[in-house]
Amino acid sequence: MEKMLKDILDKNSDLTKSGNLPTYIPELAKANKTALGICVAELSGKQYCAGDYQYSFTIQSISKVVTLILALQDNGITEVFSRVGMEPTGDAFNSMMKLEIVRPSKPFNPMINAGAIAVTSMINGEGEKRFNRILDFFKKITGNPNININEAVYMSEKRTGDRNRAMAYFMRDVGVITGDVEASLDVYFKQCSLEVTCQDVAQIGLFLANDGIVPATGERLADSEFTKLAKTFMVTCGMYNASGEFAINVGIPSKSGVGGGILSVVPGKMGIGVVGPALDEKGNSIAGIKVLEDLSKMLKLSIF
Ligand code: GLU
Repeated sequence: MEKMLKDILDKNSDLTKSGNLPTYIPELAKANKTALGICVAELSGKQYCAGDYQYSFTIQSISKVVTLILALQDNGITEVFSRVGMEPTGDAFNSMMKLEIVRPSKPFNPMINAGAIAVTSMINGEGEKRFNRILDFFKKITGNPNININEAVYMSEKRTGDRNRAMAYFMRDVGVITGDVEASLDVYFKQCSLEVTCQDVAQIGLFLANDGIVPATGERLADSEFTKLAKTFMVTCGMYNASGEFAINVGIPSKSGVGGGILSVVPGKMGIGVVGPALDEKGNSIAGIKVLEDLSKMLKLSIF
């Protein structure tokens, strides 16, 4: 398996030279553009890694999958989806276009920025407690007690996050968000700035593949109904406005982030973490997508 992973990375490594690093969060533009790594964690407990699998990157939008589960645990399905929709947008992840057009006004789904900010605003905890609950949840899911935020990326996001800020204030105006908007934004910027490796991301995948139970400890951290919901959103909205093409070519529930990471889940089988910071024009790892496509074809991993 490790040899196969290495071959797939070698075959696609040239792709990292194309694509771009995101500049709208200035700190992300300092990433190593040509890094490429993968980690596959199986339910059997075996783990296979290749390339730059120890390269650290910020989790960014991949965090939206985990915060959705936490918000569902705190509020239940009816409450969460009274404020966030279930449909893909076909627009960019940070688009605000449909927020005002759609009536009643609510973000389309929890995987776009507006929806994810609304979801984060619903997570319980006063002051520092809300982010600390999120951080603890990540630590338990990954089995990595050292996960923490990348302070420089967090500050960079906070300084430049005016588009997210605009959407959050708009959502409070229309009643989607209640309470302190800046506090919710701060938690959102922090969750996006969590620093991880492919191994951590593969463990998140494994937890989802195992329907909410961490295989290593046997501990149930989430209701299987909620992990099922999260995986379904990964299929329909996880790869931004390239989710349809990705479902056809790869067929594995996945969520990407502008840090270059991709979280993938083969239900009942494995969790996969991939990193390649060079992004295509839709914000997905340009080499990461091809790596997953090759892996899916070789191991017949498509769920369809
Ligand atoms: N922190 C990023 C933002 O709010 C996350 C975007 C992403 O990874 O898609 O724009």
